[in-house]
Formats: sequence, C-alpha cells, structure tokens
Amino acid sequence: MSKRRRYDVAVVGAGAFGVWTALHLRRRGRKVALLDAYGPGHSRSSSGGETRIIRMGYGPDELYTRFALRAMKLWLQFAHRSKEHLFLHTGMLWLARRQDRYPRETLRTLTRLGVPCEKLSRAELGKRFPQFSFRGIDWGLFEPEAGVLLARRAVQAVAAQAVAEGVEYIGEAVEMPHLDSRVDWIVTNTGRRIVADAFVFACGAWLPDLFPETLGKRLFPSRQEVFFFSIARGSSRYGPAMPAWYSFADNLYGIPDVENRGIKLGFDAHGPRFNPETADRLVSQRGLRAMRAHLRRYFPELGDAPLAEARVCAYENTSNGDFLIDRHPGCENVWIAGGGSGHGFKHAPAVGEYVAGVICGDRRPEPRFAFAAKETIQARQVY
Ligand SMILES: Cc1cc2nc3c(=O)[nH]c(=O)nc-3n(C[C@H](O)[C@H](O)[C@H](O)COP(=O)(O)OP(=O)(O)OC[C@H]3O[C@@H](n4cnc5c(N)ncnc54)[C@H](O)[C@@H]3O)c2cc1C
Repeated sequence: MSKRRRYDVAVVGAGAFGVWTALHLRRRGRKVALLDAYGPGHSRSSSGGETRIIRMGYGPDELYTRFALRAMKLWLQFAHRSKEHLFLHTGMLWLARRQDRYPRETLRTLTRLGVPCEKLSRAELGKRFPQFSFRGIDWGLFEPEAGVLLARRAVQAVAAQAVAEGVEYIGEAVEMPHLDSRVDWIVTNTGRRIVADAFVFACGAWLPDLFPETLGKRLFPSRQEVFFFSIARGSSRYGPAMPAWYSFADNLYGIPDVENRGIKLGFDAHGPRFNPETADRLVSQRGLRAMRAHLRRYFPELGDAPLAEARVCAYENTSNGDFLIDRHPGCENVWIAGGGSGHGFKHAPAVGEYVAGVICGDRRPEPRFAFAAKETIQARQVY
C-alpha cells in the first residue's frame, strides 16, 4: 500500500505571499506543498497584474519602510540569480499638496533611515518630468531607487524556483477546512488529502470565504479598476524613463508604459465590496469617464488617447491596511498570511521570510500583524 506523503508545511495560495512563503520554508529545509486552485499569478489573483510599484515611502510607518527595503534586496537578488527581467528602475514620484501630511511624514522617515529621496519644488518637477501637468500640485518627493515589478512574471518565476528547489506544487482547490484545536489534513476538490504539521492559508481576497467566522468581518475585499491608455504615437517619453507616481490630490497612481501595454492608471481609494471568485471583471463606464478626466489633467497630451486595456482586481483590505499574518485564533497549526491591503506585493519576499520565521519559531511576531489587532470597522491608515 502506498504511504501518504506528509509535509512539514502546506501553503495554500500561490500568489505573491504564498510563493515566497513556500520558497523560504523550503530553504529552511522544510518539506513543503504549495497549492493553488487556478495557478500562480492567475488573472483573478491580486498578484496577477502586469505591474506593481515598489517604493520605500510609508508615511510615519518605519515598519513598512524597513520591510520594503528588505524586500527590494530579496527581489533584486532573486532577479539577478534567476536572470529574469522582473524589475524596472523607474523611481517613484509622490505628488503632494501643501496640506498633505503623509508625504511630509514619508520624507522625514526616509531621511531618518538614510533612504535616498529628493524633495522637489513645483518648478523642479516641471523641469524633471515634462510628461506631467502639475496643476494643483505644490511639491513632489522622488524616490530614485524605487520602481516597478513585473508582477505576474515574478510570481510565476518564484513558484518555478520553489518547485526547482523541491517544493511540490499541486494545482487543486482546497475545500474549507474543518477547524479544531489542531488540523491534521486538508482536502482538495479532487478528494486528495494533504497531511501536514502546519498549514498556511495565503489566499488573498478568498480568505473571508474560507474562514467566514473569523475573517468574514475582518477582511474587506474591494473592487479596484485599472486602466491602460495608449501613449502618444511614436513617443518614448511615457516608457520606463518616466517614474511610477502617486498623487495625494486624487488618490491616484500611475505606472509608465511597460512592455508596450500603455500608461497605467488606477484609483487607490477603495471600491465596493468584491468577491474574487464570482464577480465579473468588466470596468464601469463611470470609472472610465472619471479616469479619462484624470488622464487629461495629468497628461494633457494623452487626453484623447484610446483605452488600450482595462482590468478589475481585488484589494484584500484589513481594517487599517496592516497585514494580517498570524496563527488562526482557534487552531494552533493553521496560519493566515494575507491582508495585503492594496500595497502588499512589493513586500512579498520579506513577508515570506517573516512567515517562515514565525512558523519555525525564531522570529518575533509583529503585534501590528496580529489577528487581535484587526478591527471590524475600516479606518485606513497605511497606504
Ligand atoms: C489593482 C491593484 C494594484 C495594486 N498595486 C500594488 C502596487 O503597486 N504595489 C504593491 O506593493 N501592491 C499592490 N497591490 C496589492 C498586491 O497586489 C496584493 O497585496 C498582493 O498581490 C496580495 O498577494 P496574495 O498572495 O496575498 O494574494 P493573491 O495574489 O490573490 O493570491 C491568493 C491565491 O490564493 C489562491 N486560492 C484562494 N483560495 C484558494 C483555495 N481554496 N484553494 C487553493 N488556492 C486558493 C488564489 O487562486 C490565488 O492565486 C495592488 C493590488 C491591486 C488589486
């Protein structure tokens, strides 16, 4: 009779958090299974977009600045060793009004930690970044070492590396676990039992449906629309020579034309509640009209540019934007790793390292990531 395989850890979810967790656990010598219902970086996962910004600025939150610094190091190391093209060194430009506190605090934190950054007057902005119109903007903060990660490609590359190093990938969906004080196995849609000493659920916006009692009221998946507009004919100034950017005046972010997909714009304000499993992925006409108005405002030359592509994606928000990475409160060997809250991708290598560390017992848990710190009413503090 064949003996059932027993894993040290089964990681459910092969998005950015799951693949990096599986890789770090494997590198610590653990026998690891990695499961996903639809495949690493699939188009409905939060990690499945073309691009994600990586920047170090986080207002007063040194915690996330330090995480981003560590993650940047690990992303660059990974890209270098795997010879994958995963990072574009575009820099990140924060656009601010006089009254905006977050960018002022960001400048203070980055300066204190020695992270390269430049404060730019409106006149300097105009000279350095002629693609933009800075109407309504008083000053800017430029992070020269920040940039853009090729998200889907990166997740798939990390998953492939994890498998190459001995992680077993299983392309099946995990059914809702039967929770007790301990869980000995989980079951997939094919009836396969996955037996392990510990389980990590890194299931992004699917988490509230998997754990309705504990997470149903503590995670707030939201519908986020993203638009790609064509660039000016024969122009290269909207490519990676232009920085990624965020404007506090409109809660709006943008990414240059990467791999000829067009210039990308998205609202960072939370959209309506969203179910990643059942919801459709068509953007709204209202959203498109609003975005075109912003395109005209920031890039007058592109005001009438055709829409090239659009996507709908889920943010997996916690009450205040802090990650949720903790042991399940009712189950000693089940861990939750999620709550990326629209800013998690960049941190994934550091998150995976952290999850592996707390599971292996040699990393001190961060109180801000704890289940106990998660409220049932949203009041965003981390951006
Ligand atoms: C439009 C948009 C823009 C963003 N921009 C940025 C940015 O610029 N910078 C940044 O740092 N972050 C950004 N983010 C946030 C970032 O993308 C997410 O925080 C991050 O990708 C979350 O990764 P994850 O692994 O937790 O979730 P996901 O990538 O969603 O992965 C979860 C995985 O779990 C799997 N799964 C779920 N349930 C099951 C089950 N029962 N069985 C098996 N598998 C299951 C799913 O199939 C999925 O693959 C953005 C997000 C969006 C939506």
